[in-house]
Amino acid sequence: MYEYSGAVHIHSIYSDGTGKIEDIAKAAFDSGLDFIMMTDHNTLKPVSDGYNRWINGVLVIIGYEINDLQNKNHYLAFGIDEVIGTYKELDNGELGCKLNAEDYVKQIKERGGIGFLAHPDEQRQHLPEHPSYPWISETEDYTGIEIWNHMSEWIEGMNESNKIDRFLHPLKSIVAPNERSIKRWDKAAEKRHITAIGGVDAHALKQNVLGFFEVEIFAYKVLFKSVRTHVLTDEPIAANSKEDYETGVNLILDALKNGKCFISNHYYGSAKGFRFFAEFRGITCNMGDDITNIGSPVILKVLVPKECRIRLIHNGVLVDEIIAMNASWNAEKAGIYRVECWQGDKGWIFSNHIRLNN
Ligand SMILES: [Zn+2]
Ligand SMILES: [Zn+2]
Repeated sequence: MYEYSGAVHIHSIYSDGTGKIEDIAKAAFDSGLDFIMMTDHNTLKPVSDGYNRWINGVLVIIGYEINDLQNKNHYLAFGIDEVIGTYKELDNGELGCKLNAEDYVKQIKERGGIGFLAHPDEQRQHLPEHPSYPWISETEDYTGIEIWNHMSEWIEGMNESNKIDRFLHPLKSIVAPNERSIKRWDKAAEKRHITAIGGVDAHALKQNVLGFFEVEIFAYKVLFKSVRTHVLTDEPIAANSKEDYETGVNLILDALKNGKCFISNHYYGSAKGFRFFAEFRGITCNMGDDITNIGSPVILKVLVPKECRIRLIHNGVLVDEIIAMNASWNAEKAGIYRVECWQGDKGWIFSNHIRLNN
């Protein structure tokens, strides 16, 4: 398989980010990323402006982030060319889609797109200037969940005493995916396949910190060293022509749709080469796959680029934990299996599920 690492969930000057897409792509290239997934709020204008192409050595995928009239139920949509529904200006001057969340999620699926619940479990109340934007809708039509959102974790853990430290060291304070989102994901995935992704939610906002100096919070090049989503594809992605671009986008979106991906925090080391797979009757099955008829033995295997604390999770419950660079287990029970890799008490790599059916 071929592995490509990318940053998902990025805002540019097309909404409330401060960077131009070409400069964001340059920062991504310099950070060693293969692709970026842009998600400006409620707009696909970058598509009509021709930004859906290779830029500065990086494959740029243009999606968008939708919200409803309550500015809740944020949804990251990819694989469609036009914004759906009509919009209304909200009290704060931002836009809200007049469709309710169930409808926009459904319509994106019907148009062949894919989508992810964005930062679904925010619940902070301590920062009036940064309200939470949780997912509160009931729907089954989404592709997956953004279980890790850098911006969200960074703000949620901020208080008066650590504020300045957080501004100055935006990567140090990131520990692990949101626990409530992980629970939401494991529970929902027992019924059907649901992909987990990690997002940066990059804006590169400029903020005045101490009243006399302005810092760029979350400069894109800084954020690109944190939460990454790595996809695995059966074919290589080439960068020669417009057709290659379309093929590359389809390979990445298919991998995301099918759960052939994992999440890493690059701050704790490159996760390139991580693999979680199953061997069954001489066949290798990967994340996102379903294995049926488990009368025959199924061996789960994990390979990690450096020694770490590997945790095997079955149906949301921790079943084994070892410190190693690789591990294998006999999977006897039906259900969904995934692994987590930790460096001490910091989350490093989070796989998608492999499902075993009776
Ligand atoms: Zn959002
Ligand atoms: Zn966002």
